[in-house]
Amino acid sequence: MECTRLDQTESTVDVTAPEPRGCLATFVKWLGVLLRPSEEDSGNDELPYRLTRNFLSPAELSFYKVVIRVLPSDITVSIKPRLADVLFVPRDAPSRWTLENKIRSKHVDFLLCSVETMKPLLAIELDDKSHDRSDRSERDEFVNRAFAAAGIGVLHVRVKSGYVPEEIRAQIQAALEKSTSSMTVAASTDAVPICPNCRTPMIQRTAAKGPQKGNIFWGCKNYPHCRITLPPH
Ligand SMILES: [Zn+2]
Repeated sequence: MECTRLDQTESTVDVTAPEPRGCLATFVKWLGVLLRPSEEDSGNDELPYRLTRNFLSPAELSFYKVVIRVLPSDITVSIKPRLADVLFVPRDAPSRWTLENKIRSKHVDFLLCSVETMKPLLAIELDDKSHDRSDRSERDEFVNRAFAAAGIGVLHVRVKSGYVPEEIRAQIQAALEKSTSSMTVAASTDAVPICPNCRTPMIQRTAAKGPQKGNIFWGCKNYPHCRITLPPH
């Protein structure tokens, strides 16, 4: 048998030979693979991630193609951001953790943002038949209220097989006007100003660095989520 035959003609063993040959060598190599430390194995292993085939559903893709055609050049669209990427709950809000949990795994279909600053301007939801279910309409109601509290409107567009660009343009324009007008909050005249974004009392801080170093200003207690500052009275 070829596999068990050893070469007996050489009286010395060549230690410079790079690799042993034959079936025994193959077995030793195979054993070496089995005995390799598991850390090495995990380094070479492919991770079990696969590409999502339907990142956008056909309805979402069809709508997206219309939206990017009708948006003005200073507005862009973000796709499926989580609510927790866009909204936060101020530190002193009651039930803060519960409310933060409620936005952790929810997302909106589209979010229109300023190209210059990526400031969110308007959320858009594509409503298919599932939105008629009671659990879904509860979810929609919560999302509407959450964005409304942050001064952002939610435009609900019914899923269709095709969209008329001019109709979508008009709907977006009307919703944007409504959304941005609700962002304007009257300035507070109280001794302790209220953050116009978080609607919580601000705190007095002293600039620790920069050209304003040593100067007193009003800062939001939700920094760094909210970076609004006001000059001292
Ligand atoms: Zn604030």
